[in-house]
Amino acid sequence: MERYRKAFRQKVIPRYYRGSLHVAAFAVIQLVALVVVAARVRWSLEAIIIIGMALTYATTFTYFLHRFLLHRKIPGFGWAHKMHHWHHTFYQSHAMEYDTLDDVYMLLMPPWIQLFYYVVYLPVLTLATGLIFGSEVIVPFIFGLTLWYGIYELIHWMEHLPPGRGLLRHSLFRWLRNHHVIHHSRLKDEANFGIVEPSWDYVFGTKK
Ligand SMILES: [Zn+2]
Ligand SMILES: [Zn+2]
Repeated sequence: MERYRKAFRQKVIPRYYRGSLHVAAFAVIQLVALVVVAARVRWSLEAIIIIGMALTYATTFTYFLHRFLLHRKIPGFGWAHKMHHWHHTFYQSHAMEYDTLDDVYMLLMPPWIQLFYYVVYLPVLTLATGLIFGSEVIVPFIFGLTLWYGIYELIHWMEHLPPGRGLLRHSLFRWLRNHHVIHHSRLKDEANFGIVEPSWDYVFGTKK
């Protein structure tokens, strides 16, 4: 595995790439987005319910995107399939952890996807949501989806850390990590597509 990973890095990771800068860019974009949106939320029970609905939408969307776009070759989205294939070939059920910080190249989504999420995807989606449900839902809805991006990346990252340290020792987390380990086995195209939580895997019978 060590030799395989070394060859993989040489083939896939660009020479200019620095994992530390990638992590820093992710954290800065995420924190700025959270602070800017959180400052505009008018907190109420209604706002909390809308945030919950945004998170429910996001976990559903993520399940379908992962199952049907990242694990299939859809014309026009070959690049997404290829990036996810790198993730699965570098991280396998018997080697889930990374060796160096540069290995987050195959773990975190690239900054341009994060920027696309905030600059294109979120505004379009929230505009549509506002038109359908009214302008008062827009800010809490954006906040829920902003929260989701960070939760998704952090939970997925934690699933690729060695178990048994600090928070990772908790039985709930070990269960969630094990769920993701199975997705990194030879069952990758058929099981455990939920990354943050497995509810849709239970609903669609893809839970192993
Ligand atoms: Zn993974
Ligand atoms: Zn996958």
